[in-house]
Amino acid sequence: MSRIAAAFGELYGAEPDGVWAAPGRVNLIGEYTDFNDGFVMPLALPHTALAAVSRRDDGVLRLHSADVDGGVVQLRTDELAPLTPLAHGGWAAYPAGVVWALREAGHAIAGADIHVTSTVPTGAGLSSSAALEVVTALALNDLYDLGLSAPQLAVIAQRAENAFVGVPCGIMDQTASACCTEGHALHLDTRDLSRRQVPFDLAAHDLALLVVDTRVKHALGDGAYAERREGCEAGARALSVRALRDVPYASLSVALASLPDERIRRYVRHVVSENNRVDRVIALLDASDPRAVGPVLTEGHASLRDDLRVSCAELDLVVEAANAAGALGARMTGGGFGGSAIVLAEASLTDTITKSIETSFATASRTPPRIFGAIPSGGAHRIA
Ligand code: ADP
Ligand code: MG
Repeated sequence: MSRIAAAFGELYGAEPDGVWAAPGRVNLIGEYTDFNDGFVMPLALPHTALAAVSRRDDGVLRLHSADVDGGVVQLRTDELAPLTPLAHGGWAAYPAGVVWALREAGHAIAGADIHVTSTVPTGAGLSSSAALEVVTALALNDLYDLGLSAPQLAVIAQRAENAFVGVPCGIMDQTASACCTEGHALHLDTRDLSRRQVPFDLAAHDLALLVVDTRVKHALGDGAYAERREGCEAGARALSVRALRDVPYASLSVALASLPDERIRRYVRHVVSENNRVDRVIALLDASDPRAVGPVLTEGHASLRDDLRVSCAELDLVVEAANAAGALGARMTGGGFGGSAIVLAEASLTDTITKSIETSFATASRTPPRIFGAIPSGGAHRIA
């Protein structure tokens, strides 16, 4: 019996019906584009949330995480309500929110015993929350024979996070966790949700993608997402388009010239140029030229730092140190103001670049970052 099944047995007194896994993710390119109906390109990490789950049909939902103190949370499925103290009070809102969202969508989920544990670092911008939601959704999909597809499960998981937990995230994280495949990045159109797996086999090209978790989270980030979102929507209104995705890159300078507000101009320039960077990265990967992706990442970082202004000293330090040590390119990934950065590099330079980033953090008296290699991995699946 696996460790997680044994832990489930100790908690609930029986073996689980099954065990499921769902990964965290990093976004290769396409940042702050999802609420502009734009393009994103995440890949799944080898780090996963695991859930051992048994179905029950008496209306009781029991939740436990090996990774947080506080014991088993017991709820009734018919009493789940969004934005209650449960939703604000902690981790149990994520799996409970999935049960709520499934029931809202008309699926008669009548209870479950759930035990989770995860290797996805939390709060590092690597979507530990989406991994937890998607693993719960997939387990219930299987145990209740719901027949939902991976993208449909992602929509349920996003609804849980938006409406039950109260976090206004886009659809990228949950879709990445549900739909990514090994050796690929996922090109996702956040308007119509069409997807394509784009080959991104790092090992075959002797490349490495490092994830650098700065382990900082600046309070400044709290209202920034909403402010950028509002600014982008104002830009779309001023340009008379449904969303900034509808501004073609070829007409960017004309569009910018028509905008009087300097702040809105910067936001529009970021979003329109970032969608173009997604296009360029796809073209490079399709042409089997992944090394040329590096400079596009660094260009994207400059845009997030200077135009959208969502970077911070630690993220800039990662990018500068990595590029100075010979990386092909680097950028912050996720919402910014802390969290993680990614570095694309020759596999042979991994140690040199890692040391160089660590040294630059030590010299600047910063908390040592956590650095690991990202292997483009598969999406959520059943493992036992
Ligand atoms: P991110 O998704 O970037 O890691 P979030 O703040 O969106 O950061 O989600 C982190 C939250 O998800 C945690 O505070 C916790 O409530 C929940 N969570 C993630 N992984 C686990 C886990 N293994 N056990 C319990 N809760 C978890
Ligand atoms: Mg999250």
